[in-house]
Amino acid sequence: MAEHTRIMIVRCNRCNQKVFKYLKVGKGKLVRCLKERIREDFTVQKGPEVFCPCGNRVGRDEGDHIKIFGSYRLD
Ligand SMILES: [Zn+2]
Repeated sequence: MAEHTRIMIVRCNRCNQKVFKYLKVGKGKLVRCLKERIREDFTVQKGPEVFCPCGNRVGRDEGDHIKIFGSYRLD
């Protein structure tokens, strides 16, 4: 059975700006974003730490994916 796939917008939970446009596969909570599925990236990276342009830390670069902290608004 094919998995459910859709483009989702991940928004900062502080300022509500877009941080990623992401191709989500399957259901369930987003806890990491595979880099190959990130379609647009609005973040600022400082070393392995990933920030929204507002300064809120949204995740960490762990090689092939970004680990997402907290819960983020998806739409
Ligand atoms: Zn923000």
